[in-house]
Amino acid sequence: SFTGQGWNFDNTYALLPESLFVRQRPTPVKKPGLALFNPELAASLGLDAASLDGPDGAAIFTGNRLPTGADPIAQAYAGHQFGHFTMLGDGRAILLGEHITPGGERFDIQLKGSGQTPFSRRGDGRAALGPMLREYIISEAMHALGIPTTRSLAVATTGEPVYRETTQTGAVLTRVASSHIRVGTFEYLAARSKTDDLRILAEYTIRRHYPELAEAENPFLELLRAVMERQAALVTSWLHVGFIHGVMNTDNMALCGESIDYGPCAFMDAYDPATVFSSIDRDGRYAYGNQPSITQWNLTRLAETLLPLLHEKEEEATQMAQEALEEFPALFRRHWIRGMRDKLGLFTAEDEDAALAQNLLKLMQDNGADYTLTLRGLTVETPEGAFFRDPGFLRWQEQWKARLARQHETPEQSRSLMRAHNPAVIPRNRHVEEALEAATLKNDFEPVKRLLDALSSPYEDRPEHASYRAPGLLDAGYRTFCG
Ligand code: AMP
Ligand code: MG
Ligand code: MG
Repeated sequence: SFTGQGWNFDNTYALLPESLFVRQRPTPVKKPGLALFNPELAASLGLDAASLDGPDGAAIFTGNRLPTGADPIAQAYAGHQFGHFTMLGDGRAILLGEHITPGGERFDIQLKGSGQTPFSRRGDGRAALGPMLREYIISEAMHALGIPTTRSLAVATTGEPVYRETTQTGAVLTRVASSHIRVGTFEYLAARSKTDDLRILAEYTIRRHYPELAEAENPFLELLRAVMERQAALVTSWLHVGFIHGVMNTDNMALCGESIDYGPCAFMDAYDPATVFSSIDRDGRYAYGNQPSITQWNLTRLAETLLPLLHEKEEEATQMAQEALEEFPALFRRHWIRGMRDKLGLFTAEDEDAALAQNLLKLMQDNGADYTLTLRGLTVETPEGAFFRDPGFLRWQEQWKARLARQHETPEQSRSLMRAHNPAVIPRNRHVEEALEAATLKNDFEPVKRLLDALSSPYEDRPEHASYRAPGLLDAGYRTFCG
């Protein structure tokens, strides 16, 4: 019996119109094994970590056994992939259901890599160990950095080979999300002209993620605005830690405002807005510096689906949507400068702050300076490194010090604000690759666990994590894959 594990499912998505999902069980695997398990996350969900950290967990996290109360489905969605519209759906994922925590919070529990579904097209429905460990590492790092994100509860191995460029070990990731409602979910219904279902989905999204909007005069317009707000905050938080999502297709943008789908994502080392790591992003559509405008592009796709709900007259609806969307650049700038002030130790606001921040970024770019190390360097009195002796930097530093002097807070207060917003440890490409190599080639999971430990307290200078603070060396030519 699995009732002792703390599962507490209440599956509301499966009560929505049938167009939105198909009932689908995970495909059993040959030899379940538990590669990684997240006991802290399990405990915060109200699950019994001890009973899941073993063979029972392996059975559940591969999909071989369903936890009590699960009602497995594959969700239907569409999406603009690199600008091109496609009908999609969970091709290798199964939503087990919605788990309610003891505190009353609702989370999707999803298995990724759990076998084929009617949406698999030509895919095998499976996932390889390396990419699933990568999602686990990066998503947990994002969480520790304070960025809204889906979480990773476990990576389980299947004992079956997965055929990619090479033969790899099969694995299943258990993903925990506030929900998996995507921009692409709305696009799916809009493309099929299912306006009644779309209204039901929009109302459901409001109930689940924005309950305060239910009583608004035009709840669907407010939904658009609220999603814009969360996405502006999200993309800003990515930029501020040097994160490049890599595949910001509309099916990978969640209405709840969490970062989702860690495929070809990576953190940049040297500051350069043109940085792209994804092997399939040949034109740099999803480059670091393009992420705000892509966010707006994706929100525009969402707005288009909402038009029939905004107003009965198309013209009026279009105007409402346009007016809302036009606010995005200013909204983004507000979030951006707020975060940059924290990163520069500024407690007050001056008009020139944005220029001050931009000038520092420009200096980093011109000098090929490491983004993370430079900003963390500003938190100590005499930072080491060539960049901090550059005449351009020294001139900038004078202006910055003059700016700091115009506020009442002490230098130590500024430094402590900066330490809380400029991470010392990020998942650098080199360290991630080294850890994944040990796990996938030598079956040695210790490097992954050490890395996860360092990433769990990114704003602290712990001596035992010093090696993870070194700059990366393989950024040039570094490529990531969708897995
Ligand atoms: P992604 O690029 O990860 O956002 O995935 C895009 C779409 O491809 C989603 O609908 C996935 O379910 C599907 N997909 C990715 N890999 C596979 C696979 N190995 N088998 C079946 N479907 C897949
Ligand atoms: Mg996806
Ligand atoms: Mg993916």
